[in-house]
Amino acid sequence: MRFTLPRDLYHGKGSLENLKNLKGSRAVVCVGGGSMKKFGFLDRAIAYLKEAGMEVMVIDGIEPDPSVETVMAGAAKMQEFQPDWIVAMGGGSPIDAAKAMWIKYEYPETTFEQMCVVFGLPHLRTKAHFCAIPSTSGTATEVTAFSVITDYSKGIKYPLADFEITPDVAIVDPEIAETMPKKLCAHTGMDALTHAVEAYVSTCNCNYTDPLALHAIKMIQSSLVKSYNGCAQARADMHDAQCMAGMAFSNALLGIVHSMAHKTGAAFEKYGAHIIHGAANAMYLPKVIAFNAKNEEAAKRYADIADFIKLGGDTVLEKVQLLIKFVRELNEQLNIPQCIKNYGLDALPCEKGFVPEEVFLEKLPEIAKNAIADACTGSNPRIPSQEEMEKLLKCCYYDLEVDF
Ligand code: FE
Repeated sequence: MRFTLPRDLYHGKGSLENLKNLKGSRAVVCVGGGSMKKFGFLDRAIAYLKEAGMEVMVIDGIEPDPSVETVMAGAAKMQEFQPDWIVAMGGGSPIDAAKAMWIKYEYPETTFEQMCVVFGLPHLRTKAHFCAIPSTSGTATEVTAFSVITDYSKGIKYPLADFEITPDVAIVDPEIAETMPKKLCAHTGMDALTHAVEAYVSTCNCNYTDPLALHAIKMIQSSLVKSYNGCAQARADMHDAQCMAGMAFSNALLGIVHSMAHKTGAAFEKYGAHIIHGAANAMYLPKVIAFNAKNEEAAKRYADIADFIKLGGDTVLEKVQLLIKFVRELNEQLNIPQCIKNYGLDALPCEKGFVPEEVFLEKLPEIAKNAIADACTGSNPRIPSQEEMEKLLKCCYYDLEVDF
């Protein structure tokens, strides 16, 4: 087994400043649509890198759900500039895109198909090292071995996975996450909770990932709602908590909450309903806990979590039920619907959601099949059959109790 993390992790308010201690001669800074510029963090990053004696180039405008084309264009710019540091700042997308650019920059002959071979990348760091600076508190891509790139010609999101793309340096500066809008704070927070819970019950869990997962869950319990309601200290704590959850799942992998979220995310786009990743996780997590808890080992692990965060209960079964209740109550406090049927405008709960029942039912067999085939299914403690996955997804649509 292997446990891999960035070599250096700088955290705490003002830690962005550590950019001035990087050693190199040329740095490329990759950012998204503009919030890093607007709030002045891009300028500060550039100034620190210049202070470190580096020449700086910026690749900006990296879109949400970055495309293969964006990756290839960015890599070509890097080829010209020959950076020895790649510094990626922002939400998950610019960091994920920069990770893929890095591969192509180091190995210009590599095709996108070759990048997608799971744990099949050649050795990186022959040309550049990688520093990631997250602006949202959820994906934790600053510490993970993953990147998600979309091939729009096929309409499919491809996960790249290899410890080679685990960043060398992560800067987890809460100041940068202070500007997150409320809704983003809720969704990314529930994504982080799901990462920690799935990592803890994953079949790849180990002694090194367990403490990170448990402590992340405990911090999310005490900070997520407060952060959502505007408490700056709680928001800073969430930035650390999501990162710890990321360290856990980068090494322990995930489960079927993510399989289902990946495959339902864009399935209803035509109806105006892009089911936001974190909101999908928030709705599906309680259902998957009930489903997985039919596996004795998983049930014990959920009960461990319930004990660790002091939810009460005497038997394993009671503890599992209390954990489900805990997640549902969080959804309520964060204004996230409990099921797809009630998933409405702006991802808010409503009587009649975006996804019409007949459309959902028509697509159900295919979504279930794709979810089972998702890379995250392999480490789930219970592998669902086609029939079980369809039933489970129906429970997520109608908010029914999972009793199978
Ligand atoms: Fe996630």
